[in-house]
Formats: sequence, structure tokens, C-alpha cells
Amino acid sequence: MKFRSIKGTYDVLPNVSNKWKNVESYIHQHLSRSGYSEIRTPIFENTDLFKRGVGEDSDVVSKEMYSWIDQGGTDLTLKPEYTASVVRSYIQNNLNSISPISKLYYIGDLFRRERPQKGRYRQFRQFGIEAIGSKYPEQDAEIISIAYNILSELGIQDITLNLNSIGSSETRKKYRQILIDFLKPNYDQLSESSKNRLDSNPLRILDTKNKSEMKLLEKAPMITEYLSNEDEIHFNEVQQYLNDLNIPFILDTNLVRGLDYYTRTTFEIVSSKLGAQDALCGGGRYDNLVQSLGGKPTPSVGFAAGFERILLAMDDENELVEKNIKKIYFIGLGNEVKSTMIKILGEIRNAGYYIEFDPLRRSIKSQLREANKLGASITIILGEKEMEEQCVQIKDLSSGNQESAPFDSIIPYLKSLK
Ligand code: AMP
Repeated sequence: MKFRSIKGTYDVLPNVSNKWKNVESYIHQHLSRSGYSEIRTPIFENTDLFKRGVGEDSDVVSKEMYSWIDQGGTDLTLKPEYTASVVRSYIQNNLNSISPISKLYYIGDLFRRERPQKGRYRQFRQFGIEAIGSKYPEQDAEIISIAYNILSELGIQDITLNLNSIGSSETRKKYRQILIDFLKPNYDQLSESSKNRLDSNPLRILDTKNKSEMKLLEKAPMITEYLSNEDEIHFNEVQQYLNDLNIPFILDTNLVRGLDYYTRTTFEIVSSKLGAQDALCGGGRYDNLVQSLGGKPTPSVGFAAGFERILLAMDDENELVEKNIKKIYFIGLGNEVKSTMIKILGEIRNAGYYIEFDPLRRSIKSQLREANKLGASITIILGEKEMEEQCVQIKDLSSGNQESAPFDSIIPYLKSLK
């Protein structure tokens, strides 16, 4: 029997793993520079955390979670999203006592049993940030600008930022009834899933991708018309800061996002380079989540972005990949040189260089071909003659210059090369 990977999962093979690594290290750098610290939470949590945090009637919780009862009878779930888990950790570890604002970011794998297609998998990777503690619009604008800037700096073109405000809980409560009153007379035109949501969570109907429902919703009252004064002031300031930051955006009054815990600002960033699954990133403000998971009322805002879609939308030629790495290929000829070669190679590697050798003991011709294939810019040759003279030949493949360097001055010589 041949084993195969599970449907909706994939292997990151060596030809692309470097790209993943470079994107991840860029994200770590960018977020650390912005004053965010990494948080890592377990890959599984109590199922109830997501039921409470995400909402029982959301697609994620009602249809897509990988849940099971373990041998001790505990109901567990592989994390389908990060925010609830980060907030659980924030409360459990009293992070509020360390600082009034917790600026956290994460990179990790999530699991949802969705229908797999291009850009949609059952195990996928996200990075995201959660700023827990500030209710002010400049925090919303910072979060949005970080997401936008990271995606643009990764070389993803054709990105659009869609922005909306869904108001505070009170606004939503009021609007909810207004939306139900509008949809009820049009009940027959709704899809089965929207019919089911009409009483439990009508705002989610605004997320529909169903063409005829979208048409119907064009005539629906918009949530932005029902924002309270405070909601409106907040939303205007977010927009003003984004203008100050030169971040372009489009107002999209139907953007309510799939998850239940959002309040006020909601946003998503899409790329026209992707197909049906065009959302690279989604986020917003979630002022009620900390309290609903058992903490003190704490306003918060964050986003999550999907790696697979970022990699799909990224330009292959992006210079982030393998920037300025000088590769060295060590050619050892003859068995007598092997132990010296291994020793020198270790020293060069410890000095911070990228260096490889041929573990297949091939001919010099094949080794040179391998060096070429690898894109090496320098070869170091050690044969019997060099052993006798206690030196190596160092060839700079870009200039064609070749010089010999005594064993004890190899690293200074490499440093002297541009
Ligand atoms: P969400 O947590 O649903 O708000 O999603 C945030 C981002 O994660 C989306 O914009 C996508 O880029 C990515 N994402 C969500 N679900 C999947 C999936 N099943 N496969 C790949 N990426 C996903």
C-alpha cells in the first residue's frame, strides 16, 4: 500500500521551502521592528473555546473543526483560528498585569475541514497580530497599515484594502432587527444556509457569495447608516489615519466578516492575482472577545493573513528570495584530503558562510557542474598538491580570478572578496 498525504494537505518540498523560510523571516523582522512580540500557543485547545470565541453558528465551528474526544474524555479541537487561542493565553497568563497593551503576533498552522481548492486547504498557515488593550482608532490604523505594508513589501501587486465599520454591539443589535425586517418579505429568495441564519445571525448573510442574494442585498439598508455617534467618530478617524499613512482603501458596507466577535472596524485585503479565494488577509476590532472568554472587558484589534495565498500571489522574481547570499562550493579531490576538507568546511560555515561539498565523491567535472547548478559564486579546491602545500585554490566564479590561500588565511581571504 502506498501512503498519500491527507486530502487538503500538502508537503512543502525543497524547491519552495526556501521561499517559505524567507517570507517567514521577513515577517518576523517586520513585526519585531513594529514592537510586536511572538506568541505560540498549543496546536489544540478545548473545543468550547472556539464555540464561545468564534460562535456556534459560524461555518468554522458548525462544519469545519477537527474535533475529537481524547482517551480522558476531553473534547479537543485542532486550532481552526488563532485569535481565541491567543486571548485564552492572554487571560490565563494575566498579560494585562505586565503591560496595559499587549502587542502580540503569531505564525502557525491551522485546521479547517473546508472543500479543498486552489488557495484553500485543510491545514494552512497564517501569520497575524493581536493588539489587546487599546480602544483608539490609531491602533486600528496601525494594524491595517502593518498588514498592507507587509503584503506590498512582499511584492504582491494588485492588492485592494476593503474597509467597513459594523459598529458596537448596541448598533449591531439595532441593525440586526432592521436587516431581519428587510429580509423576511424576501425569504423565498434566500439560499438554504441564509434561511437558517436569518434568525440566528442575519449579519452573516451579508457575507454571501451567492449572486442572486448579492443582488437582493444591494437594496438592503446598510449598517453604516445606523452607526452611533461614537462609532462614526471612530470610523472617521480610522479613515483619516489611513489617508495620513497613504494607504488606499475602498469602503465596502457588506464586509461583516465570518466570525462573530468583531465590533466596529472590519477589513480585508484581496488580490486580483488570486482566483475565487482572493482574500489574503482579514481582520478587525473585537472589543467583546476578552470579556466573553472570561477576562475583563478589553478592547482589541487584529488580523490574520494566509501564507499559501501570499505565496501564490507573490512574484517569483521577488528579490526577497535568497537576497545577496554568496554560495561557496568546496571541491575535495582524493580520499586523503577528506578529513582536512571537513575541518576547513566547518570553520568556513562557522564563520557564517553558505558552503556545501559533494558527499558522493564525484569527479571534478561533475562537482564543478554541481557548483554551477547551485549558483555558487566561489569554489574552493583542495587536491593532493594543495595538501602538500597546506593551501587551497579559491576561485571567484564571477570574475574568473583564482588564487591560492594558505589554510590559516582562508577566512580573511573570503572576507576580502566583494
Ligand atoms: P480567517 O481566519 O477566515 O479570517 O482567514 C484569514 C486569512 O487566512 C484569509 O484571508 C486567507 O488568506 C487565509 N485562509 C483562511 N482559510 C484558509 C484555508 N482553508 N486555506 C488557506 N488559507 C486560508
